[in-house]
Amino acid sequence: MTNPRKNPQVTPEFTQTVTLVVHDQDELHMTVQEAEAEAARLLDTSWWSLGRDLPIDPSYLARQLGIAVRFEPLPLDESGNIVIAPDVEPVITLNANDHPNRQRFTCAHEIGHYRRRKMEAVTQRFVDNRDTLAGLGTDVDEIFANQFAAALLMPARRVQEFFQLKNLRADEMGILFGTSAQAIEIRLRNLRLT
Ligand SMILES: [Zn+2]
Repeated sequence: MTNPRKNPQVTPEFTQTVTLVVHDQDELHMTVQEAEAEAARLLDTSWWSLGRDLPIDPSYLARQLGIAVRFEPLPLDESGNIVIAPDVEPVITLNANDHPNRQRFTCAHEIGHYRRRKMEAVTQRFVDNRDTLAGLGTDVDEIFANQFAAALLMPARRVQEFFQLKNLRADEMGILFGTSAQAIEIRLRNLRLT
């Protein structure tokens, strides 16, 4: 049986158009806004201020935050995970067999989990697969991490600039941002630019 929530436009590394079944739209809206703001903050302090430009390198940003990034063969369904434990360096593990664009999105998503971490005294582990990265659930942590990843890799201001001022197509923008054209199209829709 097919899952009615699955969106036929799911891209290999990124989705956002899935209709989220949430009970509280205000909470969803707030989570999305928080994720956008948090990604913008990280880019301001650790990317743009260093004179860096597109594409954003999430592995570099992770290391800037003191997170180790590893590439290992993971089970087919697993894209990656992050382990945040007290008194040890956090570790993001990415599936070495995934497409680089997918790895970039997963890495950005795991940074989102790290930025939203709570309960410093206990070990937290987030394991991500196709479903969590496709935004198919209603878990606020996953919604935050997905929105954070989209905002980190496709910063709203730059997307708007390239689309509206420079009139670039989604496939041209995908090359600049290090994403698929479809990821750009979804981001454009979510930013209400199309
Ligand atoms: Zn996740």
